[in-house]
Amino acid sequence: MIRNAGGWKRAILAPLVLLLVTSLGCNSYGSRLLSRDKNDKALADAHGSLPPPSRYSFRIAPYVFLSDFEIDRNKPLFQELARLRDRVYGDLHLPPTHSIVRVYLFENKERYEEFMRATYPDLPPRRAFFVQKPKPFGGSDDLLVYTYWGDRIQQDLRHELTHALLHSVIRDVPLWLDEGLAEYFELPPSEHCINASHVETLRRDLGNACQPDLDRLERMKDVRDMKSAEYREAWLWTHWMMQANPETRAVLLAYLQELRSKNNPSPLAQRLTVLVPNLNEAFKQHLDRLELPINARAVPPSTPSTPR
Ligand SMILES: [Zn+2]
Repeated sequence: MIRNAGGWKRAILAPLVLLLVTSLGCNSYGSRLLSRDKNDKALADAHGSLPPPSRYSFRIAPYVFLSDFEIDRNKPLFQELARLRDRVYGDLHLPPTHSIVRVYLFENKERYEEFMRATYPDLPPRRAFFVQKPKPFGGSDDLLVYTYWGDRIQQDLRHELTHALLHSVIRDVPLWLDEGLAEYFELPPSEHCINASHVETLRRDLGNACQPDLDRLERMKDVRDMKSAEYREAWLWTHWMMQANPETRAVLLAYLQELRSKNNPSPLAQRLTVLVPNLNEAFKQHLDRLELPINARAVPPSTPSTPR
């Protein structure tokens, strides 16, 4: 996830335009771009010179899918994405909203990239974007997703739509947690949100290239600091909180509620340490206990990752 097309500093620019980006070619790493620069030319020109797909559209609440090619709305993909909303809000105890998420589906990578280059020229090439854009005269922000019809469409849409669902009820989600939750929900329920590639890499690197540090993740404000390793770590902390036991999940859920009503709730690491004095040991034990989904065991070792 990469933030901020203009200045890359999340804290200093306003108003909010948030872009969440899916990577090229990697399995499940995320990157996000957040721009709060209202003068950002790329964003001001959005949809100006090259319009997004609009010939066909259908609604499956809370999403409206728009494309320039016909898509069968009865595909299981779309039914599953409709259930994603209930899954995200249900698991996180967040209230559903009536916000609409517009999902622009390009026919192929070339058309998608042409549009993205024209509309957001400063962005790196990525498979998908989530954009949160304020309306000029107030009201709730526009929630937009751009991607193309490719092999990873289902996982990418789960990832980006998780961002959209979160941001429709929590305007400012901490960078690392935003990605951790998107990584968590991008996996189908049948895989228990276990990312086999992340697990394999974390088991290989823990104690060497990987030194978990939740404090450090929580301090991250600049997406350039979030690399593949940080995405894996964010995913595992999230998975641990969600699934280790009811108490860790309760801490996360309470934190999310506070994010909705407060500007700066106390850090999660502080809250979790009250419950579990040695967080890094809990991280390691959770990693040790995870059982890979049966299907995942058959896949070859993960491909090199690229933040998205
Ligand atoms: Zn993301």
